Amino acid sequence: MRFSSFPPNRFTRPSAQRQPSRTRRPAPTLPVSKLPVPVALAFAMVASAACCSGSGAQEFLSGIRWEAPPIVTPGKSDSDPPSDAVVLFDGTDLSAWNGGERWSVVDGVAVVGKGQITTKEQFGDCQVHIEWSAPTPPRGSGQGRGNSGVFLMGIYELQVLDSYENETYHDGQAGAIYKQTPPAVNAMRPPGQWNSYDIFWTAPRFEEDGSLASPAYITVLHNGVLILNHFELKGDTPFNRPPKYSKHAPVGPISLQDHGDPIRFRNIWVREFKPVVGVQEREPFLRKGDQELPLSGE
Ligand code: MG
Repeated sequence: MRFSSFPPNRFTRPSAQRQPSRTRRPAPTLPVSKLPVPVALAFAMVASAACCSGSGAQEFLSGIRWEAPPIVTPGKSDSDPPSDAVVLFDGTDLSAWNGGERWSVVDGVAVVGKGQITTKEQFGDCQVHIEWSAPTPPRGSGQGRGNSGVFLMGIYELQVLDSYENETYHDGQAGAIYKQTPPAVNAMRPPGQWNSYDIFWTAPRFEEDGSLASPAYITVLHNGVLILNHFELKGDTPFNRPPKYSKHAPVGPISLQDHGDPIRFRNIWVREFKPVVGVQEREPFLRKGDQELPLSGE
């Protein structure tokens, strides 16, 4: 992005007009690294004088000791697996999957065969990347055209369907949580082209007695387009009855559905998601120079 496209007053008045107050941090609106060099230098000098030395500016400290986030090396592109991913299918074989021998792998692509396939490894909260392509030329209509599905924990179906110019019930089209919600928009590519799902999954939690402690949530990008944003699942996703939760383990496999259509899959990987850990070592406080102040003194 060109810096000249920003309104100049967003970063050219860092000094007198933007002196820190007791309630406002003196940080610039834009990251210093994105500013033109002379402005960035000026900013750095102001910021350093105002914010980090004993000059009297006030700083908020949370009192939490954070562990350093582990280093992950991203893939070459955002669709390639990062260094901490479990690769479930890289075009070689389906050995990571139970039932994989019943599907075929042709030219680096897995094609739906007899029966669902299920990962041997199990996952809880996770990020999943998967690419799929509907058959071409298209055959059938509605739910009978290019139907498969990604089942999180083997239970909760994110629908895979050829939804390019193909009418069906909306909570059953591509990107739907089956029978619970349609996707916010239809971001489908035509049959034969590749679609991607990037899935962000929060597993449900259960109490000892089997009751639900917290529901599952899902966020999904379809071809980079946000189609589900922290959707709260109402339970499982069957065709013939309302959704419900039944207690299960905190981890489960990922399954891909055989619905009778030769959907193709490629580039499938998953990363477990663990929030960074912090320990609240003391109450939050304010620091001003060498002084520590309680929040109530603000
Ligand atoms: Mg399906």
